[in-house]
Formats: sequence, C-alpha cells, structure tokens
Amino acid sequence: MLIDTHSHLNFKAYDKDRDQVIARCQEKGMAVINVGAQFQTSRTAIELCDDYNNFYASVGLHPIHVYDEDFEIKDYQALIDDRVVAVGETGYDFYHITLKRDNFKDKPQDEIIAKQKEVFLKHLDLALENDLAVILHGRNGIEGREVYSEMLDIVKEKGIKRAVFHFYSGSLEIGKKITEAGYYIGIDGPVTFKKNVEELQEIAKLIPLDKILIETDSPYLTPEPHRGERNESIYVEHVAEKIAELRGISKDEVIEQTWQNAKNLFRLD
Ligand SMILES: [Zn+2]
Repeated sequence: MLIDTHSHLNFKAYDKDRDQVIARCQEKGMAVINVGAQFQTSRTAIELCDDYNNFYASVGLHPIHVYDEDFEIKDYQALIDDRVVAVGETGYDFYHITLKRDNFKDKPQDEIIAKQKEVFLKHLDLALENDLAVILHGRNGIEGREVYSEMLDIVKEKGIKRAVFHFYSGSLEIGKKITEAGYYIGIDGPVTFKKNVEELQEIAKLIPLDKILIETDSPYLTPEPHRGERNESIYVEHVAEKIAELRGISKDEVIEQTWQNAKNLFRLD
C-alpha cells in the first residue's frame, strides 16, 4: 500500500478543503500518518483517524514551537490511544534558530538549543513509556554543529529502538550511520528537484531500501511536477517514482517495500 508517513493534513492550510484533499487520498487507497507540531494539531491529527480509513497520528511539539507553549508530558500522555503510532516531530532545528524566528529572536543561541534539547528528551521519555516510535526533525544551520549526528547520539544513548529521521537532509556518511544503527530515513519531495539535490539523490539510491520511508511533509516540500503548489499526500507517489528511477527498480517495488518499512517501524496493522 502507498503510505505517506509524514503529512500535516491537520494544519490550517487545509481548513477550506480538507475533505476534498483527504477524499483524493481515500480514492487512491493510500495510508497517511498526520504529524502534530503543537498540542492542538496533535489533537486534530488524532481526530482525523476517526473519519478516514488507514489514517494514523503522531503527537508532539515541533522544535520551532518550544517557546510558543509548554510540552506537558501528562497532557500528551492523555492524548495517546491506539490511533497514535508515534511521538514527534521532535529534535533540533538549528536552521530556524539562525533565522531568528519571532519566538527566538531575543534569546541567546545556547539557551534555545538547551530548551529544544529539554523538550526533545521529554518526547523520548514519552515514547519509551508508551512503547511508540519517534518521528525526528533535524535541520542544520549552525556552523560547526552537525544536527543529525548529535541527534543520533541522543536517541542511541536514550535506548530508543524505533525512529525515523524525517526529511533527512544530511550527508550520505551520516545517513549510513543512522541506518546501520537500525533507524529509518524519510525521503521527501526535494529528491525530485532538478538542481542542488545530488547528495540527497545519492542517499535515495544507496541507502538500503528496507530503511527508507517516503513522505510529503504536506503542505511543504512539494515534489515535481507540482513544485510551487501546496503539497498534499497523494503526491508521495512522485517521491516513490523518483526513488525507483534512481535505483533502477519499479515504482511498485518502492511502494511495497516502504509500506513494509512503515508497518515495521510504526507497528501498523
Ligand atoms: Zn513535518
């Protein structure tokens, strides 16, 4: 089955036409994991599971939102039931720290990183407590620090067994370390772009297929040939198609293997 393991159909970008966007997923007979980025969007992700087939949810507070609201473990714990298959997205976002987003702008860099780490570790505790997979968000942007290797060390040290490095945009070398440690790599729309994605395409070609997940990160990261439009989960098929082309295999093989991978990682039934 085709599965988009990282989507945000729970976001307000779909408030006007969510039913139609999801109807297109249901017509395709595909599965979707909607990922929370704040408490409210986590709750919406769960509610969507009631109305649609093969919909699953992840709950968490995105690292760019760590000052917008508190991550209260007990509140998130209260959300968790059999519709929830993962905790996250969580991790470090160095890129948005350097951009000095509104909620970061008056704070020293070290303080923001410490805050992101504190919230990240709480997510890992919540995942361990509930035996759930973790959806990791990492983004480079600070000179001298490599976000993915730092996050890899943290999840290993914490004893996390099941995790995906969502929208992986690091090096092939660190990608190999991640998959050798047993974790998954999420590949998104940029793999279909025409420029500046050589390393990402190498990763899509060389990382073992049984460690790859396909994602959209809708409404962001829209793949070709829809680049410039709002993204939606059905376009994950273009990601599958590109990976198939790069590896010289059929699109069906990519769809089937990534479905098996998602079932393993998130224990879907
Ligand atoms: Zn996301």
